[in-house]
Amino acid sequence: MTTLAFVIGVSYLLSATLFVLGLHQMRAPSTARRGNLTSAVGMAIALVGTVILAATTGVATPLGWAALLLGSAVGAVYGVVRARTVKMTDIPQLVSVFNAVGGGAAAVVALSDFLVRSSTGFALSESIPLVLDVVIGSVTFSGSLIAAGKLQGVIPGRPLTFRGSRVVNAVVVLACLVAAVASVVIGHSVVLLLVTLGAALLIGVLMVLPIGGADAPVIVSLLNAFTGLAVAMAGFAINNQALIIAGALVGAAGTILTLQMAAAMNRSVGNILLGGFGTSDSGLVAVSSQDLTGVRQVTADDVGLQLAYARHVLIVPGFGLASAQAQHEVAELAKLLLDHRVDVKYAIHPVAGRMPGHMNVLLAEANVPYEQMLQLDEANAAFDNCDVALVVGANDVCNPSARESGNAVSGMPILDVDRARSVVVLKRSMSPGYAGIPNPLFTNPSTGMLFADAKQGLVDILAATKEYVTA
Ligand code: NDP
Repeated sequence: MTTLAFVIGVSYLLSATLFVLGLHQMRAPSTARRGNLTSAVGMAIALVGTVILAATTGVATPLGWAALLLGSAVGAVYGVVRARTVKMTDIPQLVSVFNAVGGGAAAVVALSDFLVRSSTGFALSESIPLVLDVVIGSVTFSGSLIAAGKLQGVIPGRPLTFRGSRVVNAVVVLACLVAAVASVVIGHSVVLLLVTLGAALLIGVLMVLPIGGADAPVIVSLLNAFTGLAVAMAGFAINNQALIIAGALVGAAGTILTLQMAAAMNRSVGNILLGGFGTSDSGLVAVSSQDLTGVRQVTADDVGLQLAYARHVLIVPGFGLASAQAQHEVAELAKLLLDHRVDVKYAIHPVAGRMPGHMNVLLAEANVPYEQMLQLDEANAAFDNCDVALVVGANDVCNPSARESGNAVSGMPILDVDRARSVVVLKRSMSPGYAGIPNPLFTNPSTGMLFADAKQGLVDILAATKEYVTA
C-alpha cells in the first residue's frame, strides 16, 4: 500500500468513526448539537481526503476542478444562508430539498460513470450498483421535490390520485424494472439507461402525489433513507469507501426514523404509502370548526389564577406553539411559576409538531432545561397528580378519540391530558388538528378553552399570573 492510499484510507476511517459518534450523540437532546458538529467534522475530513485523491491521481481535468470549486462554493453559500434563515416550521421541506439534491447527485455520479465507461462495457459487479444508483437516486430526486412542494403548499397537500392510477403505477414500475435489468445485463446501452432514469423519475412523482400532507414528513424520512442507499450505491460504483459508509449510515438511520414516526402515529409505512390521511391543505378543516356547544371559555386572568395556586403543572406544547413561535413566552411563564415553587414540566409527544423532535428543539431554543421535558410515558404517569395541564397549540396528540376505533387517530398513543384535575387549551378556534377530526377534550367538563394566538395568549397569561403570585 502506498503512503497516499494509507493517508486516504485513514481519513475515511476517521470520518466514518466521527459519523457514528455524531449519530450516537444525536440520540439525546443535550448532546444533539455536538453530534451535528462531530458529523460535520467527519464530512470535512472525508472531503479533504477525496480532494487529495482527485489531485494526486489526476482524475480531475482543469474543467473538472473549476466545476468542483464553483459547485462547492455555490452549495456551501446556499446551504449556510438557507440553514440560517429557514423558519423552524419550514425545516421539513428544507430537509426534503436536501434529500432531492443528495439523491440527484448520486444518480448523476452513476450516470456520468456509465457514460464514460459504456464503450468498454461492465462486469455485473459494476453495472448492478450503477443501475441501482440511477434508479434509487432518481426516485429520491423527483419524490423529494414533490414532497417539498406539498409541505410548502405549492402542490396541494391532499392525496392527488386519478382514475386508473394503480394501473399506470404498475406499468411504470414494470417498465423501470425491465429497463433496469436489461441495462445491467447488456451493460453498455445508454438508451436503456435513459429509459430506466425516466421511469424512475416518474415513479418518484407517482409515489408521493397520492400521499396526504400530514404524512409528507414520514415520506421525507423514507426518501432520506433512499438518499442514503443511493449514495452507498454511488460509493460501490466509483469504489469510494467514505460514500459507502456515509450512505449506509444515512440509509439505516432514515429507515429507523421512518419506522418510529409511523409507530408514533400508529400507522404502517405501507398504509402511509397508500395515502389518504391528513387530507386538508392547511390542517384547518371547516367541519364544525366554530361549533361552541358544550365549550367552557376562560380568560387569561382565570388561567393566571389557576396556575398561581397550582402545585403541579404540565405544559403540553404542539404545532401551534411552533407556528406562533411562542417558545420564549412559554419558557418565561414556566420560569415564573418555578420561581414561586410551582412544579412545572413539559409533556412531549414524539410526533407533536411537524417533525420528529420538533418540540424538544423548539424548547431547547428557549433554554428550557432537558430535565423539564417529560417523554410520553413519563408524562402520562404524571397527569393523575397534575393540577393544571396547559395545552398550547396541541390537538391530535391529546385527542381522546385515539382510544376509540374507526377514526383518523385511532390507536395513536396520546398524552392523557384529560386525566389532569383541570385542563386549559390555548388555541385560536375550534379548528381540528392535522388529522382533521374534532377533539372531545375541548368539551370535557374539566377543560377551559382560551381562544387566542399562542404567543399573545401566553403574554396575557404571564401578566395575569404575575399579579396573582405577587399578590
Ligand atoms: P395539530 O396539528 O394536531 O394541532 C395544532 C393546533 O394548533 C391546531 O388545532 C391549531 O388550532 C393550533 N394552532 C395553530 N396555529 C396556532 C397559533 N398561532 N396559536 C395557537 N394555536 C395554533 O398539532 P399536534 O402537535 O397536536 O399534532 C401533530 C400532528 O401532526 C399529528 O397529527 C401528527 O401525527 C402529525 N405529524 C407529525 C409529524 C412529526 O414528526 N411531528 C410528522 C407527520 C405528521 P387553531 O387553528 O384553532 O389555533
